[in-house]
Amino acid sequence: MTNRKTAKAVLFDMDGVLFDSMPNHAYAWSQSMTQFGLKMTTKEAYLHEGRTGSGTINILAQRYWGRDATEEEKHSIYEAKTRVFNTCPEALPMPGALDVLQRVKRQGSLIVLVTGSAQASLLDRLETHFPGMFCPELMVTGNDVKMGKPFPEPYLMGLDKAGVRADEAIVIENAPLGIQASHAAGIYTIAVNTGPLDNDILWESGADEIFPDMTELAKAW
Ligand code: MG
Repeated sequence: MTNRKTAKAVLFDMDGVLFDSMPNHAYAWSQSMTQFGLKMTTKEAYLHEGRTGSGTINILAQRYWGRDATEEEKHSIYEAKTRVFNTCPEALPMPGALDVLQRVKRQGSLIVLVTGSAQASLLDRLETHFPGMFCPELMVTGNDVKMGKPFPEPYLMGLDKAGVRADEAIVIENAPLGIQASHAAGIYTIAVNTGPLDNDILWESGADEIFPDMTELAKAW
């Protein structure tokens, strides 16, 4: 079995793992939906984390309208969500994340980013807060994938970019759908429960280990 110390590559999710950005996303979803006659609690936003915006909007459209959202509706709803998100304070790096990255780098494992996000601002901020840790050749973003989490595609793409097999890698994830994606890709999955969900949901999604946060993971590394 893959071991933290001997993994050839460690694949990192971004929101909720490297940056404390999930409260902003959850707030933006919950605030922006009501004007369209849709409703999402912040807790539900955490359950959808990792899904594409379009996929999330369709789930609500089906529930409240009994049909899929049109492309036009998806566009205006996602725009409204983004507008609220952009008014939120800048998300800070997750405490302990730099420590974990430094340990991974020191032991010689490759560091790979696998995120559903396509927001250029967050990607730029990786270099500011975690200098020298990430390189563009070892990044999978929302722009690269067709299916996205919970499908294994983004993590399989991450393995491919790193040139390692599933049993030579480890994933660090916080979200149920991200854990499902990693598990489906056959990769040992360490969950950090940085949000409001119960550990049970992360176990059921396929987590192999759960830590309360990145600081505790760094200590255990
Ligand atoms: Mg995440």
